[in-house]
Amino acid sequence: MRKQKLSALVLKLLRNEYPNAGTMLKFSSIFELLIAVVLSAQSTDEQVNRVTSALFAQYNTPGEMAALELPALEELIKGVGIFRNKAKNIKEMAIIIRDKYKGEVPADFDELLALPGVGRKTANVMMAVGFGQPGLGVDTHVHRVANRLGLVHSKTPEQTEKALKQMIPVSEWSEAHHLLIFHGRRVCKARKPECAGCVVEKHCARSFEK
Ligand code: SF4
Repeated sequence: MRKQKLSALVLKLLRNEYPNAGTMLKFSSIFELLIAVVLSAQSTDEQVNRVTSALFAQYNTPGEMAALELPALEELIKGVGIFRNKAKNIKEMAIIIRDKYKGEVPADFDELLALPGVGRKTANVMMAVGFGQPGLGVDTHVHRVANRLGLVHSKTPEQTEKALKQMIPVSEWSEAHHLLIFHGRRVCKARKPECAGCVVEKHCARSFEK
């Protein structure tokens, strides 16, 4: 089956399975979303939401976060993984957004990518969720599920992103990102995929290998 056809079929089945697929991160501004997405690396959305509900209640603007001392910021976000590194990036990012962008998160993929701590996944999520623009972020779940399904045969998330963007219509990029994440978290788990109850098993390359 051609990749476009397979991806359309898989997305249709996943859409039926997860009609409410979307970001689970809590935020009330574009800047808060950016901080939440940066914090989400190697952490669960629950951990991030716990940390941000306390953090944003006190500090939720670039100016406020730029002015925070690094140890204080580390203390506030220590409930997520690699928090020291994230604190350093968030402080530097907040200074750049405050000074270079007058406090507004740039709505441009390359400018987002140039911010400290922002990789392609974060920039794609910001474009899609934050600005309603085309974006297909590839995290560990999207990369794993797309490879198992046989949609892509790639070694890196960057290669997966490029291949998925070629086979999925632009208008569905953001939805595809959320659907593949939902499926990866709930069914196609890293260690033990639950293939027996999987709605796309019939079409999955990995299930053909068994
Ligand atoms: S059949 Fe198994 S490997 Fe394939 S998508 Fe479903 S859970 Fe993942």
